Amino acid sequence: MIALPLLDFFTWKGLTILKPIIGIACGQKWQGNRQTLYVHKPYSDAIAKAGGVPVLLPIVEGEDLPLIDIVDGLLLPGGVDVDPRFYNEEPAQRLGTVDLDWDYNDVSLCKKALYVDMPILGICRGHQVLNVALGGTLHQDIPTEVQDALKHDQGDNYYNPCHTINVKRDTLLFEVFQTERLEVNSSHHQAVKEPGKSLIVSAFASDHVVEAIESAEHRFVLGLQWHPELMCEKFPEMLNPFLAFCRAAQAFRREKHASKT
Ligand code: MN
Repeated sequence: MIALPLLDFFTWKGLTILKPIIGIACGQKWQGNRQTLYVHKPYSDAIAKAGGVPVLLPIVEGEDLPLIDIVDGLLLPGGVDVDPRFYNEEPAQRLGTVDLDWDYNDVSLCKKALYVDMPILGICRGHQVLNVALGGTLHQDIPTEVQDALKHDQGDNYYNPCHTINVKRDTLLFEVFQTERLEVNSSHHQAVKEPGKSLIVSAFASDHVVEAIESAEHRFVLGLQWHPELMCEKFPEMLNPFLAFCRAAQAFRREKHASKT
């Protein structure tokens, strides 16, 4: 991928604007009655390395989500399964842990970002949330729902690839990686079934499991089923989606500020 300068700044009304601000949606966990919001560090590291300023977006009650207005891009990270009520299905026997409040927060952030055409990068659960936010459906459990499925949960060694994916030409994903074949890691037991409105599938695994989706109707909306943030230290090309995302966020930021003049 051609490395374009990311750290160029511009001045608007005496204000120097340096880098795009990337909101990373927090997950949450409960330890007893203690509720903790969290983002795994490799996500914020990858954003920082790609020239963005990562900020954490907490899960908040209500539909206001004011923080989304100060960011220039939305990163939806991995986490627990998406509750099937978001795509009008009953829970299957092998559905994993779900968290309705987390889902609601992620889907709301995603819809708000889509509405203003803010760049979105969804990873693993985030890629599934993106699909659901646009009306798509999921396989609740790959091993029981996909015939002759590969092993999509490789275990602990997420820093190395475990299966290949085929990337379609003439897609954003192809533009990002400049290849039709990629080796990726895999740590998911759900997958996109029917893509949502305006989404196309830009990569499949050899068992036809969807590994990437993107929107043809937005400036930069990309969902990746694997975890490039865990591979990018060892495999530098895995930083490419973060570079492309930050660059799109920077363009969005520039337009947002220009329209205020
Ligand atoms: Mn996979």
